[in-house]
Amino acid sequence: MSQSEPGYFGVIVRAARTIIDGLAVTMSYVFRPPITVQYPDRTPVPVPDTLPERYRGLLEVDLETCGACKACERDCPIGCIRIDMTKEKGADGKPKLIMTRFDIDLAKCMFCGLCVEACATACRCDGDTEPTKAIHFTREFEGVVEHPAQLVYRFIRPGDRIVAAKTVKETVPARRRGEALREARRHAQVYNALAFAWALDHAQHQDEETVAGAAPAGKAADQ
Ligand code: SF4
Ligand code: SF4
Repeated sequence: MSQSEPGYFGVIVRAARTIIDGLAVTMSYVFRPPITVQYPDRTPVPVPDTLPERYRGLLEVDLETCGACKACERDCPIGCIRIDMTKEKGADGKPKLIMTRFDIDLAKCMFCGLCVEACATACRCDGDTEPTKAIHFTREFEGVVEHPAQLVYRFIRPGDRIVAAKTVKETVPARRRGEALREARRHAQVYNALAFAWALDHAQHQDEETVAGAAPAGKAADQ
C-alpha cells in the first residue's frame, strides 16, 4: 500500500520538524569548543612551525656554512640566484673567498629544488631531525609584497663582506630554519623598495629621453 500524502497541516508540521532538526545540529555547535583557528595572530604556535621539515616554502641560505662554490647559482634553470665574490689574501697569507652578494629572486623561483640538490654543503638546522643543505627551503610561506622587486631577498646586506666557510665532508650545525629568511625579508622590504623607486625613476627618464630623441625623426617623417 502506498503511503498517503500528508494534508495541508501535515505539510506544515513536516516542514517545521525539518527546520528544527537542522537548527538542532547548528545549536549543538554553539556549545562545543571551536575547531577553527583565527589565522594568523591567534594560533597557539606559529603556523610555519606546524609544517613538516620537507615543506617547500621560501628559500634561504645559511651563510655561516655556505662555501661559496656557486653550484646553486649554476644549476638554477632560471637564474634566480646571484652570488658575487672576490679572492683576497687573509692575515695568514692564504687566499680567502669573500662573498659580497647572495641574492635569491623569489619572484622567479619555481621551487624545483635543483639548487638544493646541487649544494655540496650538508648541514643540520637547529631543532631539525633531518640534515639539509646550506641552501634549503624553509617552512615560511607568506611573501606578500607591494611589488615583485621586493621579492629579491639579499642575504648579504649591500656593502657587507662575508668570508666563505671551509668546505667539509661532514654535516655541520646551522641556524634554525627560517631565521635567515625572515631577516632577508625584512631587509628586502626596505632596501628593494628604494632600489625599485630608483629603477622606476631611471626608466621614466629613459622614456622621456627616447621621446625627445624621437621628435626630430617624427618631424622628418611629416615632411
Ligand atoms: S628552487 Fe629551482 S628555481 Fe628556485 S632558486 Fe632553486 S633552482 Fe632556481
Ligand atoms: S649555498 Fe651551497 S651550492 Fe650555493 S654557493 Fe653556498 S655552498 Fe655552494
